Amino acid sequence: MDLQLQDKIILVSGGAKGIGGAISRGLIEEGAIPVIIDPSETEGKELVDFAKGKALHLKKRLFSAADAEEVVQKVLSTYGRIDGLVNNAGTNDGVGLEKGSPEAFLQSVEKNVGHYYFLAHYALEALKKSKGVILNISSKTAVTGQGNTSGYVAAKGAQLALTREWAVELLPYHIRVNAIVPAEVYTPMYATWIQSFPNPEEKLDEISRRVPLQNRMTTASEIANMALFLLSEKASHITGQHIFVDGGYTHLDRAL
Ligand code: NAP
Repeated sequence: MDLQLQDKIILVSGGAKGIGGAISRGLIEEGAIPVIIDPSETEGKELVDFAKGKALHLKKRLFSAADAEEVVQKVLSTYGRIDGLVNNAGTNDGVGLEKGSPEAFLQSVEKNVGHYYFLAHYALEALKKSKGVILNISSKTAVTGQGNTSGYVAAKGAQLALTREWAVELLPYHIRVNAIVPAEVYTPMYATWIQSFPNPEEKLDEISRRVPLQNRMTTASEIANMALFLLSEKASHITGQHIFVDGGYTHLDRAL
């Protein structure tokens, strides 16, 4: 299937590692030009090398609106257009009700969902011109809960709500907005989390066994495959959807 992504300019926040890294790699393989917004120096450079220079790495950890505005200005001055935005960067930072504070909660929410809005806001005029696409990467924790991570989960839920909200608001411009909802994907963030258990390998095995389809983790490239499809014209009549790429983890009976 030709996804017709050739030369499309696609912003990917957190695009150097994990799920974002796999999306950037997939875009490069399809001939698109990912703009990788991520502080990770080595992985960002590897991707630009893999793209033979047909990719841009902006070494930045997004937080404020000014960060997002600067990124969009840089992309427009470099390429003159934006065809897609993948809001992906996020950190499950464990700010809970018990282990947390009002200040830490607000900071976690802002850190995880603020830049989703900021990038969409500043990229909007360019996306209107290109009839572009927005893709939000959320998490199953938005619908299942996880415990001890109120800030992250509040942000992940907001991302799902904003997917519907933006899909409605942007109908007149033919801008499609969708969300992918992953559950268990072995990425650098996941590796750090699993290491927080006393017996990480046992814990990983226990979680993998609970994934209904094939009792294994989803790979980052399986998330990227859906992302590429949703970013492409092949998904031309799909908007406002929350698509679970999780081997049935969220909806099927995990006791089976
Ligand atoms: P990851 O392994 O930590 O990779 C994320 C990348 O984004 C890292 O390179 C990270 O850099 C960068 N990053 C983090 N915050 C950033 C920011 N504010 N601005 C720019 N770059 C930033 O994470 P992942 O597991 O791939 O997760 C990606 C997305 O998938 C997140 O939204 C997460 O909530 C979602 N998700 C993941 C899973 C899973 O099982 N892995 C499940 C559900 C949802 P540093 O390493 O320097 O922080």
